[in-house]
Amino acid sequence: MARIVMKFGGTSVADVARIKNVARRVKREVDSGHEVAVVVSAMAGVTNQLVAWVSETCRLHDAREYDTVVASGEQVTSGLLALALQDIGVSARSWLGWQLPVHTDGVHGKARIKTIDTDEVIKRFADQQVAIMAGFQGLGPDGRITTLGRGGSDTSAVALAAAVQADRCDIFTDVDGVYTSDPRIVTKARKLDKITYEEMLELASQGAKVLQTRSVELAMNHRVRVQVLSSFVDAPGTLVVDEDEIVEKEVVSGIAYSRDEAKITLVRVPDRPGVAAAIFGPLADAAINVDMIVQNVSDDTKTTDLTFTVGKADLARAVHVIEEARSQLNFKEVRPDPDVVKVSVIGVGMRSHAGVAQRMFSTLASKNINIQVISTSEIKVSVLIAEEYLELALRALHTAYGLDAA
Ligand code: ASP
Ligand code: MG
Repeated sequence: MARIVMKFGGTSVADVARIKNVARRVKREVDSGHEVAVVVSAMAGVTNQLVAWVSETCRLHDAREYDTVVASGEQVTSGLLALALQDIGVSARSWLGWQLPVHTDGVHGKARIKTIDTDEVIKRFADQQVAIMAGFQGLGPDGRITTLGRGGSDTSAVALAAAVQADRCDIFTDVDGVYTSDPRIVTKARKLDKITYEEMLELASQGAKVLQTRSVELAMNHRVRVQVLSSFVDAPGTLVVDEDEIVEKEVVSGIAYSRDEAKITLVRVPDRPGVAAAIFGPLADAAINVDMIVQNVSDDTKTTDLTFTVGKADLARAVHVIEEARSQLNFKEVRPDPDVVKVSVIGVGMRSHAGVAQRMFSTLASKNINIQVISTSEIKVSVLIAEEYLELALRALHTAYGLDAA
């Protein structure tokens, strides 16, 4: 007997027929004698609709009321799944975030889970009842509903699995696992049987949208075994596990990309101490995240060009913040460029293999793709390139690292 948390994403609960399909999958685990708790997200498209209604009603919305509205999607699916389970003879009960409760901090719209009161869930295990928890939501210190940021029901599921010490957390989504690259672009992408927490964390934060980044962080910290799989096919998915569970480590496990980057170049910034602080300080104050940075010293050694990236959605605001600081910074020009993408190769094998970055650079060179910015970490090399070369770059790199399916 195992204790399992099953999480179903929006496409898995997109309509009543699919919710009934989910109920049958849950029943199978219950019939095998497992203790099962379920986390659901809202029906596909519902959260987007709720967010749109909020923006339509009021441009600068109150985050508390935003949460009240957008948390409602999960209330519907948790109740419907409880009904669908009861209908096929499985004892089930739904729980909203505030009912358990799932305690979060007070950052409405992107709250973090602090603790989950698992008493009710544990009691239900003993009674052979399935507890269904509405994902994406919790209870803030102000006694109001909070939500965990888009994609947050993954995090709800992993947090619940950690709190009840589940043997596994199965995350059912619209893909059947984690791939070496986006199969919609790289047709030769392969499904991975296993991937390490660290690689998954990099993949998620570098733009692969399979799991919410925060959920992977949480899984890694609490050593929760996560499986990513599809509710539509009956096959094992990808296990996200500890590094020592993987015997044959690939040098590169995956190639991710993010279209969510925009580049800003400041031309001829005076080259003196304090300049970087004067630029990035105001951006940080405006809560704008800066990702990649490169600085070139120019010939005259008195000025420098500084290039960095921010999220595409923050570009206009970032330029505004920089312009505001112009008198103090004394640069010649600010050049924004939204038509860039970041491509990252990721693999824990990089720690022990040299030449991974070089292979990336030479592969891109052979396709005549110009690299604009480079950044690296212990298990990742990222480059910024013009958006128009994305598909070419992904396919060429996938082949170059020997990842293509046979
Ligand atoms: N329904 C929420 C969203 O669409 C949470 C989730 O699906 O994970 O972002
Ligand atoms: Mg999701």
